[in-house]
Amino acid sequence: MKIKFYGVRGSLPVCGREFERYGGNTTCIKISRENAHRIAIIDAGTGIRNLGKEIVNNSISQSVINILFSHFHWDHIQGFPFFSPAYNKNQRIGILAMGRQGKINNLKEIFSTQMQKEYFPIGLETMGAQFEFITYGDKEQLYGATIITAPQHHLYEGGSYGFRIEDESVTFAVCTDVEHINGIDPNVVSLANGADLLIHDGQYTEDEYKKFKGWGHSSYLHAVDVAMKANVKKLIITHHDPDHNDDILDSMEYECQKLFPNSIFAKEGMEVLV
Ligand SMILES: [Zn+2]
Repeated sequence: MKIKFYGVRGSLPVCGREFERYGGNTTCIKISRENAHRIAIIDAGTGIRNLGKEIVNNSISQSVINILFSHFHWDHIQGFPFFSPAYNKNQRIGILAMGRQGKINNLKEIFSTQMQKEYFPIGLETMGAQFEFITYGDKEQLYGATIITAPQHHLYEGGSYGFRIEDESVTFAVCTDVEHINGIDPNVVSLANGADLLIHDGQYTEDEYKKFKGWGHSSYLHAVDVAMKANVKKLIITHHDPDHNDDILDSMEYECQKLFPNSIFAKEGMEVLV
């Protein structure tokens, strides 16, 4: 499978020369198969705007574009009103919340609220695409892949959901906006267990984490700990702090690689094959 990062920043988009190499857009990940055009998307941070333009410009057509949401904080939904395919009346778009079946009944409202007229000039109903708002349980089949989800501690238990995606040849896990509040969370280790790739929140250094404990995020050391406990082959750190410029991220990556050599910090536009 191919994984491409359209946004790797956490909390808030940033711009400026000092952020050019890692990028300033917030979380958005495209997943596709190696030799197929069909895509799925995780999260609609501001990075989804460029992905939407790419879909339109390259005339990528598929009957349903599914966007799977880890949770609905601003930095994961803020790009949605700027997602070009959502303005195409012939396009079906699936807004998917896994693990939340029976737990939330306002999925549509989450999106219509951020687009109500006080906040945005165009309402959800007038965007044009045919939206489907679907809550799933803990395990689902999509495009022939199995997706397993588990609640993560992000301010509270179930504040976000991590994903394990498996097909016949590869397994990878995406665990962002996760805090290991009482030691490493066994749910997260289990999602990542034996994976070819783990994409994990690593917003803080160890010293920063001491200051921001309880804010819902991990240090890159937590990510390394999960990667080791789960025996994953490769680790990608994401959800970079808006105060971390390229030089700071370079040095964090350098330290991280001393502990887990097959690790990198995600950069906007980066594509990895697993
Ligand atoms: Zn976030």
